[in-house]
Amino acid sequence: MRRTLYCGHLREQHTGLKVTLEGWVNRRRDLGGLIFIDLRDREGLVQVVVSPDAPCFAEASRVRSEWVIRVEGVVRGRPAEQVNQKIATGAVEVLAQNLEVLAEARTPPFPIDAGWRGEEDQNVAEEVRLKHRVVDLRRKRLHDNLRLRHKVIAAIYRFLDAEGFIGVETPYLTRSTPEGARDFLVPSRLEPGHFYALPQSPQLFKQMLMVAGYDRYFQIARCFRDEDLRADRQPDFTQLDMEMSFVEQEDIIELNERLAAYILREVLGVELPLPFPRLPYAEAMNRFGSDKPDLRFGLELQDVTEVFKGGAFRAFAEAEVVKALAAPKALSRKEIEELEALAKSKGAAGLAWARLENGALTGGIAKFIPPTLLERLTVSEGQTLLFVAGPWRKAVESLGAVRLELGRRLGLIEPGFKFLWVVDFPLLEWDEEAGRWTYMHHPFTSPNLEDLHLLDSQPAKVRAYAYDFVLNGSEIGGGSIRIHRRDLQERIFALLGIGPEEAQEKFGFLLEALSYGAPPHGGIAWGLDRFVAHLAGEDSIREVIAFPKNKEGKEPLTGAPAPVEEAQLEALGLRLRGEG
Ligand code: ASP
Repeated sequence: MRRTLYCGHLREQHTGLKVTLEGWVNRRRDLGGLIFIDLRDREGLVQVVVSPDAPCFAEASRVRSEWVIRVEGVVRGRPAEQVNQKIATGAVEVLAQNLEVLAEARTPPFPIDAGWRGEEDQNVAEEVRLKHRVVDLRRKRLHDNLRLRHKVIAAIYRFLDAEGFIGVETPYLTRSTPEGARDFLVPSRLEPGHFYALPQSPQLFKQMLMVAGYDRYFQIARCFRDEDLRADRQPDFTQLDMEMSFVEQEDIIELNERLAAYILREVLGVELPLPFPRLPYAEAMNRFGSDKPDLRFGLELQDVTEVFKGGAFRAFAEAEVVKALAAPKALSRKEIEELEALAKSKGAAGLAWARLENGALTGGIAKFIPPTLLERLTVSEGQTLLFVAGPWRKAVESLGAVRLELGRRLGLIEPGFKFLWVVDFPLLEWDEEAGRWTYMHHPFTSPNLEDLHLLDSQPAKVRAYAYDFVLNGSEIGGGSIRIHRRDLQERIFALLGIGPEEAQEKFGFLLEALSYGAPPHGGIAWGLDRFVAHLAGEDSIREVIAFPKNKEGKEPLTGAPAPVEEAQLEALGLRLRGEG
């Protein structure tokens, strides 16, 4: 080996040792005739001191930030008053005897040294960071995040291997696997006019592996969904994908929460109490206005439909539901207006309010409120009540958005990791635009067998064996028990408006597999990027992905997507539709 050990590993116990170190110059300073170089590698930095009588002094005075150098020297302890508490090597330094420049470097487009010194990195615009991702990736924060991600994945492998899971890879070039997004297509050169689709998930492959008897499958799988990029999505992203045979919903939930607890213990040293709460979808929506409720704070929605029913206040009397939220303080007009704008953006007709003062409601809609309201809900002196009336889903979701915003603004969110399961999702939802039923999870999800008799008469009432895994207000996983009988799968396809021919054309291979004897099976997939972002304390998944795309789906580093040569198109039998 050329080097003795990592710069960041030097400790007091190495005092007196002659070492060879290699790494990057985090910073060079000239002080009182001496040169101080913070030499950095992935494990951290150590201070190198070059004295004027060292033969390498001239060379040392040449080096600049981010140059790559090799140093030979002797480790010595620092006097007590010079110990740097901010870095792990702070009790020692290396007195240089030899120094060799291995590579010079241009001045980086932004400084990256502060984080390694235990200080705050300077804020840099994300577009600049992504353009210079290699430099950006040198920063301590990204090193920490990518190593955390690695530890999470290593823990997943250990846990699932011990539980008897078999890792299997499934193809990237395949046919459409519907998860509700648009496919990325790859044209076939050998069969012009034919296209592969990149998988939106390995869903159908893992089901076929169950039919083939593998019993327990997992994969850290890349998935591809061509969606309009909402704030924090990536067109290609990573799932922890799993499938199990001869199980019920509870088996999958139980195994996955043990996995989550194992990862948090191994990676963060955090103990999670098991089991996690399970909330039926309807209850989550009613109490928190969300199917992925943030349980780090209370502030629950309260149902006051009955109080207004049949009363004089028309807008509320006739609404399907009226929901109320007691903000823990008196809100100003301006605050209420801002919250109303938010509620409206989520489909509410408006946000009504009243305040409890001296035991009575005043302001806003107070004079329209029946006196029985105060008996029916929990509100304290000085608090502002907020109301939304309307169709159930719009009412709860818009007030749920107000709840979250209040939680953030008023600092109600406690630190920590609040996991839960949301269960009993409806199997179907009505697609206004298409004028037909569509699947809520995916078309392969099994209806709750207790509700099977409602399938034709009241499809909206049929619950699915589907569950979402939620952490701190974001959906980090979702799965279901699958349909394992061909006749039921065909019936569901028909309900979804997929006729027998289309079913045969698109999913014939699945139907055929199911006809060869399929075990009852089910599974789940975790959004690994989001999960790791939560563990890293990052808001954006781009902070835990080495080479992410930006918010427009572009990769500023390589410039993808990019035009291609005419000849490439020709080989694929493609021609671009020009302007004319
Ligand atoms: N394939 C599903 C998804 O990507 C997960 C599952 O049902 O296992 O959301």
